[in-house]
Amino acid sequence: EVAERIAKVMARAGLCSRRDAEAWIEAGRVTVNGQAISSPALDVTPSDAITVDGQKLPSRERTRLFLFHKPRGLVTTARDPEGRTTVFERLPRGLPRVVAVGRLDINTEGLLLLTNDGGLSRVLELPETGWLRRYRVRAFGGISQDRLDALAAGVTIDGMHYGPVDAALEREKGDNVWLTIGLREGKNREVKRILEHLGLQVNRLIRVSYGPFQLGNLPEGEVEEVRTRVLADQL
Ligand code: URA
Repeated sequence: EVAERIAKVMARAGLCSRRDAEAWIEAGRVTVNGQAISSPALDVTPSDAITVDGQKLPSRERTRLFLFHKPRGLVTTARDPEGRTTVFERLPRGLPRVVAVGRLDINTEGLLLLTNDGGLSRVLELPETGWLRRYRVRAFGGISQDRLDALAAGVTIDGMHYGPVDAALEREKGDNVWLTIGLREGKNREVKRILEHLGLQVNRLIRVSYGPFQLGNLPEGEVEEVRTRVLADQL
């Protein structure tokens, strides 16, 4: 990582001139990694956290977005109190520091978006953004397409409203059915709750798309970066 004079970094963030930055540092208005600094003769790298008057400096890195094919058995959290392995411990080397856009349950597989831009991840998770998430689901039990069609009007389970849900019966295989399900929100255990409500036990859950982004043939455990041009078109 490149180290640069802090005043230059502050100026480039659009906050002030370099001269102003030096004056603000001397006035004690700036911290680096939580420590107040008093001398402008300091070099920082992109991983140093800078605040001015208690406000974080806008990110200096360009926004990057990655598609990750999450395997089963990983939790989507920065640190798990129960010590289970997290998604972040299994990412390929060489990625910037990223956060996940929403969560997949430990036993859910498939597409998880990762970004180095915390603001973007919050926007993409908002209900108003309403991006379609599509899942392939294998569930124990039987169901008719008519009952799935009724989910288009949404469904309330234990006081929680879900939907509208777009669900299609793909095939029956032994004691299981395969379905595809599309939802425009990301509530906790949403697919499992909805299908349990219909008497089905989910035993495989694979997210195949999230908004405009597809899992495609991305191998399990691998990451693919969304190209800057594509990102600019979609966001
Ligand atoms: N719905 C679920 O039940 N689990 C997930 O991980 C995602 C959607």
